Amino acid sequence: MNIDGRTRLAGVIGWPVEHSLSPTMHNAAYAAMDLNWVYLPLPVADQQRLVAVVDAIRALPFVGFSVTMPHKRAMLELCDEVAMFAQLAGSVNTVHCVDEHLIGYNTDGRGMLEALRLEADWSPEGARVAVIGAGGGAGAAVVACAVGRAAHVTVVNRDVSRAEMVVERAEPSLRGTEVAAVASGPHAREFVEAADLVVNATPVGMTPGDPSPVPEEWLRAGQIVFDMVYQRRSTELLQAARSAGATPLGGLGMLVSQGALAIDIWAERAQDPAPRAVMRAAAEAALATSTEGGVEL
Ligand code: NAP
Repeated sequence: MNIDGRTRLAGVIGWPVEHSLSPTMHNAAYAAMDLNWVYLPLPVADQQRLVAVVDAIRALPFVGFSVTMPHKRAMLELCDEVAMFAQLAGSVNTVHCVDEHLIGYNTDGRGMLEALRLEADWSPEGARVAVIGAGGGAGAAVVACAVGRAAHVTVVNRDVSRAEMVVERAEPSLRGTEVAAVASGPHAREFVEAADLVVNATPVGMTPGDPSPVPEEWLRAGQIVFDMVYQRRSTELLQAARSAGATPLGGLGMLVSQGALAIDIWAERAQDPAPRAVMRAAAEAALATSTEGGVEL
């Protein structure tokens, strides 16, 4: 990496970010693409600091930045413009800086679908989907599946009113997809059992010892079980999926794809997409050093 007077900045705003795989993954891509950019961790603890940091970014040579927990929703209000997908998903995970103008995007939904296509040759058209969780990741998954013409999407959350909000926000993206909000618990069973794709969009599974967010008895052969959690190679949900004969997929592929799609937006080089394989290898290497020995996540 050669930092000089023309280097453009990028980074990830979140809290905490010290174990983020994104700096390693992005910087590897920039080197492979011969981009004079550098990607930094930007730890921002609260919303007051978020406002100050975003203001500072406007005045600095940022090409763009990523946004992660807990700021994805707040970032919606801080952008000058927000792409339709991010509005429907209710969260911004990628910001493009264009002449001090901040344009918000959400690449999580497309990132999830890209990962499912590459790793399982799966697409949502005509499928039944159950999404566990009702935060930013869940909203993006619901809208992506609706845009991809899934037949039915159920949002399952312990606070059902948040699931209803996800469904309501996604309404304009529906082109024949039926959506429903269901409270976690026994009522959710029939929707999870019937789903072709089960998505965990909660943080349950990030910490060793976390239970599976879905009982193994609800899973079955023929399903894809996608865990957005990427900080661990296997989670209790993925183990349950394996035992039930379903296809388990972890969230690392989605992390790579959402990051690659962010670079594609920032670089504006449609003919030269960000190198997914380079990014995957860098993320795998960073994950191996951060978690393999049982180090905290
Ligand atoms: P978020 O906006 O904070 O939403 C979290 C959701 O999980 C909420 O609906 C919350 O329920 C639910 N939840 C939290 N703790 C729970 C528990 N103990 N039991 C049951 N439900 C619980 O988070 P997010 O940004 O959507 O992220 C969710 C997960 O997806 C995280 O692990 C994140 O790292 C991952 N993610 C991965 C990628 C990727 O690229 N692989 C991208 C995005 C997100 P309530 O509404 O009831 O509070």
